[in-house]
Amino acid sequence: KIEVLRIGTRLVRDDRVTTHVTLVSRAFGASKIYMYDANPEIKETIEKVNKMWGSDFKVEIIENWKDVIKSKKKDLFKIVHLTMYGENINDVQDQVRGEEKILIVVGAEKVPREAYDMADYNIAIGNQPHSEISALAILMDRILQGQHLQKKYSGGEREIIPTKKGKNVIDKTDN
Ligand code: SAM
Repeated sequence: KIEVLRIGTRLVRDDRVTTHVTLVSRAFGASKIYMYDANPEIKETIEKVNKMWGSDFKVEIIENWKDVIKSKKKDLFKIVHLTMYGENINDVQDQVRGEEKILIVVGAEKVPREAYDMADYNIAIGNQPHSEISALAILMDRILQGQHLQKKYSGGEREIIPTKKGKNVIDKTDN
C-alpha cells in the first residue's frame, strides 16, 4: 500500500506541478495523496479522471502535514522522504520494496528540516536536483518494478486498448 504526501510552501501556488504529482501518484499505483495549500480544483480534476478512467484514488486536503506523518507512523507506515540529499535509491531499493505500507513524502519549494528527521528513509533519485514529479515516478516504479503499468483500473467509463497506431478506446457506457 502506497500513499503520498506533498509538503513545502510556495509563494505562488504551483497548481500544474501539484496536479502532475497527483496524476503520477494515481497512475503509478498509490491509493491516496495528502496535500495542503492546494487549489481545491485539483480534487475535482482527479474525480473526473477517476470517473473517466477508473479507480477510486483519493485526494485529501490537510491542515498539518506533521500530524499526517505521526498518524501514519502509528498505523505502521514507513515514511520515505524524497530528497536529493538522501541515500541513493540503488542502495536502498531492496529494503524499501520489503515494506508493506509506505508514505512517500515529496517536497515543493522549501522542505522543513523536520521532514528529514521524521522520515524512516531519506532517498535520493540520484544526488542531483530535478523534480518531485520525476522523483516520485521513478521511486514508485522501482518499488513496484513495472507491475502497475499493466494494472487495469475498474469502474471507469472508458478503457484504452493498447494499439500500435492511433487510438483504440472502449466506451463502457455504450450498452
Ligand atoms: N530546494 C528544495 C529543498 O529545500 O529541498 C527542493 C526543491 S525540488 C524542486 C522539489 C522536490 O523534488 C524535493 O523536495 C524532492 O522531494 C524532489 N526531488 C528533486 N530532486 C530530487 C532527487 N534528486 N532525488 C529525490 N527527490 C528529488
